[in-house]
Amino acid sequence: MSWLPTLIKACYFLAALLFILGLKRMSSPRTARGGIVWAGYGMLLAVLATFFLPDMHNRGLIIAAVLIGVSAAWWSGKRVAMTAMPQMVALYNGMGGGAAAAIGAVELIGYARGLGLLHAVPDTSPLRPESWAVNGLPPTLSPTELALGVLGALIGAVSFSGSLIAFAKLQGWLDKRFVFAGQRAVNLLLLAAAVVVGILLATGHASLPLILVFFALALLFGLMMTLPIGGADMPVVISLYNAFTGLAVAFEGFVLGNEAMIIAGMVVGAAGTLLTQLMAKAMNRSIGNVLFGSFGAAAGSEAQSIEGAQKPIDAADAAVMMAYAERVVIVPGYGLAVAQAQHKVWEFAQLLIKRGVKVKFAIHPVAGRMPGHMNVLLAEAGVPYDLIADMDDINPEFPATDVALVIGANDVVNPLAKTDPASPIYGMPILDVSNAKHVIVIKRGKGTGFAGIENALFYADNTRMLYGDGQAAVGELVTELKAIDA
Ligand code: NDP
Repeated sequence: MSWLPTLIKACYFLAALLFILGLKRMSSPRTARGGIVWAGYGMLLAVLATFFLPDMHNRGLIIAAVLIGVSAAWWSGKRVAMTAMPQMVALYNGMGGGAAAAIGAVELIGYARGLGLLHAVPDTSPLRPESWAVNGLPPTLSPTELALGVLGALIGAVSFSGSLIAFAKLQGWLDKRFVFAGQRAVNLLLLAAAVVVGILLATGHASLPLILVFFALALLFGLMMTLPIGGADMPVVISLYNAFTGLAVAFEGFVLGNEAMIIAGMVVGAAGTLLTQLMAKAMNRSIGNVLFGSFGAAAGSEAQSIEGAQKPIDAADAAVMMAYAERVVIVPGYGLAVAQAQHKVWEFAQLLIKRGVKVKFAIHPVAGRMPGHMNVLLAEAGVPYDLIADMDDINPEFPATDVALVIGANDVVNPLAKTDPASPIYGMPILDVSNAKHVIVIKRGKGTGFAGIENALFYADNTRMLYGDGQAAVGELVTELKAIDA
């Protein structure tokens, strides 16, 4: 069967093509669903082809692991609420990083064993069997493979533990921020120690205790790096770990000599890096600041107190204000996703448009709980793309806007981000809704947003609060608007 390796390579090539074309299709909400399916077929093809690699061992064990993984993912994927999607993405991303780190661990242990330093590993491995010591022969990892294997293991382990902390934070299982004096120094020390041990491993000093220390340091660094992150920096970190996982997979793919892994990893790494840059720009943070910065609040400064009271409005008055407005800008946030109010909001916007009101939707890059969260919801409701504006485009338009209707957004419209250096979101660019002539905010009560802080906008003179669940409140606005028209 001399043609088998060629066939496997051809399958990997096709899989890589499907990954890239799938990713391309994901760039537009119209084709994104199809893009995910294409990439999924690519993954299926790559996994199936791998089973036919010559010298593949332990097929039964691998099939059992695949079945367990697929069932868990299928079950959780079907059950997960749209609002819990970010946690799930963080968790799955962590699994990818963990898998890459595990490959690195197996290769390193195998290498150590080949050098005669470790004897507890079985003779056969499902991974790159030809590289393993058989009958006392040394392994065939080249110095480059060894170095990339160590690097992939480091990045993968950091991504694994970091993503798990991100998951726990998004799930509400962990306090949002965990800070102590000298944290930055401790983190740097941990990273430096992990790198030094990694260099030792990569230069042929592999031994089981050293491998264990290496992974303990890398995992601890991922943990410590993520624990202090709160406020509004989470999106940057999630996409950073996404990029990390991609890189780790690509490096381990190089070690295993697996083209599909190299290409898939590089695609994820590149896309994740771009996304991280976009997110960091949106949060006004440099990547270095995200990695080792103090994340938001300037130490020692006092939070500004907010004067005044929140002033309520009822749906009838709010509907009248918007019915007779010239321009209305709708600002969706996480609460819109919780309330699943996107269809009602679009129905309301269409009624306004029918009356001649100029309506636009304003999207902040980190509104919601995942990149593109609001775009996905509005696209699902059928809002045309030309009505959706990015932050930079819409901000100059707020002074000429009669009513800014904020639905379930909080942090992304908080003026304290500009005025209060003690605020955990200080420095984050916001949607300048307070510059509109009137602001109406729909939310259930006095709940805070992700950053857990008060919002000066809700107390502003030109702001009125329409309390209620997003979907119910917009439903009332629809009813009131129809009553005006009748
Ligand atoms: P926020 O999380 O700041 O605020 C959401 C608001 O919605 C709350 O104040 C809440 O108030 C209200 N709300 C909740 N449920 C409902 C409901 N059913 N009906 C009406 N209102 C509701 O949202 P933003 O979108 O403004 O900001 C996103 C935040 O999340 C940012 O801090 C961002 O950094 C962070 N983040 C973003 C990620 C991303 O990738 N986009 C990832 C991780 C974090 P009340 O309880 O009173 O109703």
